Amino acid sequence: MNQTISIKRRKSKKIYIKNIPIGGDAPISVQSMTNTCTTNVKATIKQINKLQQAGAEIIRVSVPTLEAAEAFKKIKQKVTAPIVADIHFDYRIALKSAEYGADCLRINPGNIGNLKRIQSVIHIAKEKKIPIRIGVNSGSLEKDIQEKYGIKNPHALFESAMRHVNILEKLDFNNFKVSVKSSDVLTCISAYQLLASAIEQPLHLGITESGSLTNGTVKSAIGIGLLLFSGIGDTLRVSLAADPVNEIKVGFHILQALNIRKRGINFIACPTCSRQEFDVIKVINTLESRLEDITTPMDVSIIGCMVNGIGEAEKSDIGISGYRNKSILYENGVRKKTKIKNSKIIDTIEKYVRKKSKNL
Ligand code: SF4
Repeated sequence: MNQTISIKRRKSKKIYIKNIPIGGDAPISVQSMTNTCTTNVKATIKQINKLQQAGAEIIRVSVPTLEAAEAFKKIKQKVTAPIVADIHFDYRIALKSAEYGADCLRINPGNIGNLKRIQSVIHIAKEKKIPIRIGVNSGSLEKDIQEKYGIKNPHALFESAMRHVNILEKLDFNNFKVSVKSSDVLTCISAYQLLASAIEQPLHLGITESGSLTNGTVKSAIGIGLLLFSGIGDTLRVSLAADPVNEIKVGFHILQALNIRKRGINFIACPTCSRQEFDVIKVINTLESRLEDITTPMDVSIIGCMVNGIGEAEKSDIGISGYRNKSILYENGVRKKTKIKNSKIIDTIEKYVRKKSKNL
């Protein structure tokens, strides 16, 4: 008998970034960040649209200068995705970004100077009805906290976050979410655990500066995955030193692996060995790139021989099991009478997937 393993999600307050709910019973959203120069308006708009097309539900744009804020205004007029303006230290940039249509401000209130400045940012966030993300990062902790704990300590991230949280709460502002990111996976997990039991606001998950595509994917999958499995997390960003479109792909793969959310094709493929009857690696890579546009959730198995091919195909929406010169095709767990020439596998699977995505 199949057993469904369910995750008990931490109860959190729901906030909105434009039309995207975060927290409560909202789906766990996937975000990314542009890495173009924000003052290059054309390139930034192009990348925002590319990320949105890849499935990004929220996109962050850094606004490091007042000049970038003017570019942000132009960008915001041309895109439909919810945009978070990422600001450090300069409250004037936060005010401008909010004025120019930011859907959320990423700013740490404790880092922007005196109370009057903080109040002015909170005032505009309230007026525009936009949330704030407190984003604590192990690379930029306050000096006194670093001296007290060192940076590889979950209590350092937690204490820093709570300073900012307390400022917002004192100013009667609770429309915020929080992240406590470390590049050390275990430190990061522990910091989120501390935070999850201390506040009711939604949590934005991420392993910061996690590294290259391969290394960063592994760290993010372990860190974000373990937190999500324990019910912690309401939105996520995978941080990779790679094309940010990969961040969206990996983010959805993490959610998919935990059965939290499904988007697009979940490919099941064997690692291949000398028993393979067709070139599994070529087939899977070609299909992955050809079918990137498919958003309908479905399981597609590509298995090189009968050893595991039949079992996987029977559990998949569409499956192929390698067999001599012609392989065996399954749809909805049912074997098709006609075998598929191995040279035609890619085109055939594509045809079946496209047909199914229209019918589902
Ligand atoms: Fe090898 Fe067959 Fe296993 Fe694929 S399914 S790894 S081809 S034995």
